[in-house]
Amino acid sequence: MICSNIGQAGGRLTFAGRDTVALAEQYGTPLYLMDEQRIRHNCRIYKENMDRHFTRALPLYASKALACRRLYEIVAEEGLGTDVVSPGELYLAKSAGFPMERVFFHGNAKTDADILFAMGCGVGYFVVDNPDELSAVDRYAGERGIHQKILLRVTPGIDPHTFEAVSTGKVDSKFGIPIETGQALEFVQQALGLEHVQVMGLHAHVGSQVFASTVFYDTADIMLRFLAELKEKLGWEAEMLNLGGGYGVRYTEQDPTVDIGYELSTVGRHIKEGCARLGLAEPMVLMEPGRSIVADAGMTLYTVQSTKRIPGYRSYVAIDGGMTDNPRYALYRSAYTVYLANKMDAPRDFVCTVGGRCCESGDMIQENVPLPEPERGDILAVCTTGAYNYSMSSNYNSIPRPPIVMVDGERDYVAVRRETFEDLAAREV
Ligand SMILES: *Cc1c(COP(=O)(O)O)cnc(C)c1O
Repeated sequence: MICSNIGQAGGRLTFAGRDTVALAEQYGTPLYLMDEQRIRHNCRIYKENMDRHFTRALPLYASKALACRRLYEIVAEEGLGTDVVSPGELYLAKSAGFPMERVFFHGNAKTDADILFAMGCGVGYFVVDNPDELSAVDRYAGERGIHQKILLRVTPGIDPHTFEAVSTGKVDSKFGIPIETGQALEFVQQALGLEHVQVMGLHAHVGSQVFASTVFYDTADIMLRFLAELKEKLGWEAEMLNLGGGYGVRYTEQDPTVDIGYELSTVGRHIKEGCARLGLAEPMVLMEPGRSIVADAGMTLYTVQSTKRIPGYRSYVAIDGGMTDNPRYALYRSAYTVYLANKMDAPRDFVCTVGGRCCESGDMIQENVPLPEPERGDILAVCTTGAYNYSMSSNYNSIPRPPIVMVDGERDYVAVRRETFEDLAAREV
């Protein structure tokens, strides 16, 4: 099985030890399932290993992977911080009681209203993306009579060899200010000259779905060298160094398994050695895992509606969801592992394309999937959907969003209820 919280019993797929077919019957489909124990386990891998292998460190959960109040409660209980990229995420975190001093506010296009809202919430840190934002944050902090803690986002100039559209550490990026061009040095200098901000450190995010810690070594090397340059030229030493997100997860059997605990131990050692070599005090190290906290804690269940064979071409299986609840195949051709939850003992000898219900030919969940031959009413399960599914979902074709049901051992409960038709019309005047 693709992940240790997935299994089979009596010919049926289990998730977090529970019968998925029974959960589909109880809650209806399409259905997002989340495994609370797995979320906590993933949080602890980061928290415990960063506490152990770094002098000072804090993992921040990257909200954009999945934001809802119950998740913020769980992440806060596990002692992580969080980063938010919009006032909406900040609102959810705040209303879930997330400790604001552990919240980092990201974004490359924060509006005046965003800045004021975040200051009003008492957000711990702004991750300032650019000089325009820096001036605005300083001005509003001055008006409020506060010293706003900030990190400055810089780009280390690394192509993480992951998918182009999710590579953001390169010089040519809409995020942050490049080190290579000398602009980052000016950015830091500008920030240090301001009265109402407290520059706590730097942030860099190279990319997602990272399988090799060499990406973090390279990022850390460039950042530490830059910190040494800042110490020498500006006499300033960073308190914090944020290395961004996040280790990769297994979507299919072909993906490698990352031992995150071991990888973190090597990154911790690498940073200690780097600081010693460069004569730097070790900064507090932050990392921002999103996907690797929630992806494998999620599964989506659908009901098969039809099977269509086109001789000489291919076969399609249509389900009662699709790109509205999971746009990742349509966007990135992302790979997923798919099962027929009620036919786990049957041979997987029917190769098909799993298509969604939207009026859009690109609305697919996966192509070339080997399944037992499906029939109307079968339960189709897509694994590893905890990250970037609900958070990227839409109401295209006026399709209501599925609920999120948390499974916690013997207990299960609705964290986000199913959207209704009334919800779809709720904002119309
Ligand atoms: C997307 C993102 C993350 C999280 O990446 P994952 O692959 O989900 O771990 C962290 N930090 C920043 C700045 C991001 O943009």
